[in-house]
Amino acid sequence: MLNLLRKEEPVLRAEITALYSVLDHKLGLHGAEVPITFGMDEKALGSYLPASYDNEEQFQFSLFFIGFCMNEQLSKNDRVNLYKHEYAHYMAHHISIPEKYNWQPGVHGSAWKYCCSLIGAIPSDYYIEDANIKKIDYDSVLTRPNVDHKQVQMLDTYRTQRMYKNMENAKVKYEVGDTVSHPKFGEGTVKEIEQQPSSVRLHIAFGDEVKIIDQKWLVKTGYSKVSER
Ligand SMILES: [Zn+2]
Repeated sequence: MLNLLRKEEPVLRAEITALYSVLDHKLGLHGAEVPITFGMDEKALGSYLPASYDNEEQFQFSLFFIGFCMNEQLSKNDRVNLYKHEYAHYMAHHISIPEKYNWQPGVHGSAWKYCCSLIGAIPSDYYIEDANIKKIDYDSVLTRPNVDHKQVQMLDTYRTQRMYKNMENAKVKYEVGDTVSHPKFGEGTVKEIEQQPSSVRLHIAFGDEVKIIDQKWLVKTGYSKVSER
């Protein structure tokens, strides 16, 4: 089996190189000169490795998917798309991407999708069987989703309002000795004041019982003798 697959390598290499030569000619690139290696990866159909400190630039394709003697060999259409997918990765490293297509980061971000649009590759990072290129709307794929500024402003306003409210809530509005009214517990007297980062908690005596209640739930009904002076 492996021997058989090895024999297919030159055929596949020719198929890929022929396609890349056409694309190179159109774009003034040299993708057809980048070495192609074949493996038996069962998880990835292919990959493009840019030149780096420890590896030579190369395309890799898995014979597991594209080998002619495999039962489930990808259709010609899907193979071509796979080759284009990897070529688009190569392009992203070799052409200058217009600023407006740099909004989405990632290997399969908007820069790569822009490259896909130039060569008619399906701008999807996963394999779609028999994907139809004619159905791809590159314009919508490449357009940065509209940021609704009203929404952003609203969120901001909301945050500002909340900050203000927290500040208000943290202001001590009572004094020890003040008489307060609570909808459930009735009248009480402030015994102790506890300052919290964004609230004020009061220890209030309702008859014999002392409850700890946030000042925002209370209504002041009488001032302490101190403030009445
Ligand atoms: Zn990819």
